[in-house]
Amino acid sequence: MSSFTLSPFQPATPSEASAELAIRVTDLFHKLQGALPLEAVLRRDEPLARRTTLRVGGPADIFSEPDSEHALITLLELASQLSVPVFVLGRGSNLLIRDGGIRGVVLSLAHTAFSAIEFNGALMQCGAGVRLKAIATEARRAGLTGLEFLEGIPGSLGGALRMNAGAMNAWTFDVVERLRYVTRAGEVQDVPAAEVGAVYRSCPVLRDSIAVGALLRGTPADADGIRERMETYSRKRWDSQPNQPSAGCTFKNPTPTLPAGRLIDELGLKGTRVGDAMVSDVHANFFVNLGHATARDVLGLIEQVRSRAREERGIELETEVEIVGEDLP
Ligand SMILES: Cc1cc2nc3c(=O)[nH]c(=O)nc-3n(C[C@H](O)[C@H](O)[C@H](O)COP(=O)(O)OP(=O)(O)OC[C@H]3O[C@@H](n4cnc5c(N)ncnc54)[C@H](O)[C@@H]3O)c2cc1C
Repeated sequence: MSSFTLSPFQPATPSEASAELAIRVTDLFHKLQGALPLEAVLRRDEPLARRTTLRVGGPADIFSEPDSEHALITLLELASQLSVPVFVLGRGSNLLIRDGGIRGVVLSLAHTAFSAIEFNGALMQCGAGVRLKAIATEARRAGLTGLEFLEGIPGSLGGALRMNAGAMNAWTFDVVERLRYVTRAGEVQDVPAAEVGAVYRSCPVLRDSIAVGALLRGTPADADGIRERMETYSRKRWDSQPNQPSAGCTFKNPTPTLPAGRLIDELGLKGTRVGDAMVSDVHANFFVNLGHATARDVLGLIEQVRSRAREERGIELETEVEIVGEDLP
């Protein structure tokens, strides 16, 4: 979980620890009320389910959308001083938030301050809050190829950088020239992508830091060809993925030649249900919410599929979806 905790406190029991954290959270909220500009969003006990594509999960103690890099740094510094954990939420399309929600601060870069796209020839400077679909669409309008694969990934640039999201044989870091991020200590870094060391579905630097933007590179190309590729990619998705709420692929592929979806299908698990969570009958690696699923339902389904893969094929499945937050008491 990309949350930052610095804890000099040594409470004796878990319940003492959570009572102490609750006091620090309240203290932090009051300090943030005084320190953040009015334009920044700041709320308590914010429901998070509707901020995820799976539509499950409990509330955030504090929810904030800073309206500038300066406000973001102020928030990080105050949270760090009070040892309150901070979790960064993108568009919630790779997350399973537990039913008890997330303790501490959940921070989102959805404010317009982090949603700009600026062109300089074939280069695009994009804020971390920009939707991937908007990047693909704007690149098409500008006659730039190479970013079409982003069109159907329902995340923000920040989430795609953290996950090194990929599709159609391309990865996010294939098109990143520079990454701008803020460390937990509030320092701004702007580094060439080659120095970041992104790997399959992960950018390790962003485990502990917050991406605020990136410089992306496209290649000038014929507009009709770009449009055709985007339409082909979009059709492929509509034909192969369910349209109910989900968090995309639940598990990483166990090997490059064995997609997790095929394995789950071969185990005969399509359509398996726990409560309102179901293994999709369109794509077995997508677990869908039929309407009233809880995180507990989805976690139960994940465990069922995992144990069948272990027992019947000796394969240990690892989740691609990130599981965060706390269970209900
Ligand atoms: C229908 C569907 C289809 C999908 N298809 C694909 C696909 O083809 N390929 C693919 O790779 N994924 C796919 N996904 C998964 C998901 O869309 C990607 O992983 C996406 O990059 C997540 O972005 P997000 O903004 O939603 O991040 P979130 O889900 O909100 O967060 C994911 C992680 O990124 C971190 N994070 C978010 N913003 C930042 C930031 N600014 N700085 C640092 N860390 C940050 C979070 O803390 C968390 O650890 C799909 C999901 C769905 C629901």
